[in-house]
Amino acid sequence: MDQKTVLITGSTRGIGLGIAKRFAAEGYAVALNSFEPEDQVGDVLAGFDGAAHYFGADLARPAAGAELVARVIERFGGLDVLINNAGVQNVAPVDEFERKDWDRVLAVGLNGTFDTITVAIAHMKQRGRGRIINIASVHGLRASAFKSAYVAAKHGVVGLTKSVALEVAEAGITVNAICPGYVHTEMVERQLADQARIHNLPVAAVKRDIMLSQQPTRQFVTVEEVAELAFYLAGDMARSITGAAIAIDGGWMAK
Ligand code: NAD
Repeated sequence: MDQKTVLITGSTRGIGLGIAKRFAAEGYAVALNSFEPEDQVGDVLAGFDGAAHYFGADLARPAAGAELVARVIERFGGLDVLINNAGVQNVAPVDEFERKDWDRVLAVGLNGTFDTITVAIAHMKQRGRGRIINIASVHGLRASAFKSAYVAAKHGVVGLTKSVALEVAEAGITVNAICPGYVHTEMVERQLADQARIHNLPVAAVKRDIMLSQQPTRQFVTVEEVAELAFYLAGDMARSITGAAIAIDGGWMAK
């Protein structure tokens, strides 16, 4: 059987890297991506023992996502699974939110997802099969204060997921969104400092009273848990799950 291929955007650390490791462990050829030049990601690549290739692309740039998918398809000879994971966060009151920060959050998180999907869907339609998994967030389903751009981008990703899923429902392609609660990655580490400043609270209090108070389990979701869900959605047994926004959030959405 031909080796299956997966592209994970924003996969040099955090959730994206965890997903990449999960697919590599199952024998996939893995396309890693970030905006960094390849010579800065040598350590990450070394961890894959030849199973991964790196494709640098800054998804904030218009059309970079489309070029990225085209390069991966050319290099691997096809793309079975596209995982749109790259995302950035900015925390500020809306009346202090800088337009350049708004643009970047939307460009990477929403426009980049659109750009990769356009080329991937054309390719997958020709093959009559494919999987697209968008890493949205609980912030694609609920809002939090001071995250206007992020909440707008993630709600956009959930809407895009549903719309594209309907378009390709008869083509053997599924399109889903994963909506994690808080996962303790660098993104959250940076947010802790910003939230502490905005709320005038110590970092430990932000963790306990702002982040984990949202999650009834009072635990961070782990990277491995999100990776496992992504791997399941990529499999044959998930063929009837499409257009879904699946929360993995320690019970947040049940409130
Ligand atoms: P992270 O900041 O640790 O990692 C983000 C990755 O995206 C990095 O590899 C970074 O290099 C890459 N990236 C950033 N800007 C890019 C660009 N312009 N072009 C290409 N790559 C770029 O973040 P994370 O916590 O691992 O988050 C991954 C995804 O999961 C994001 O979409 C995020 O919104 C989402 N998410 C995270 C959490 C959380 O609590 N950590 C919760 C819900 C959803």
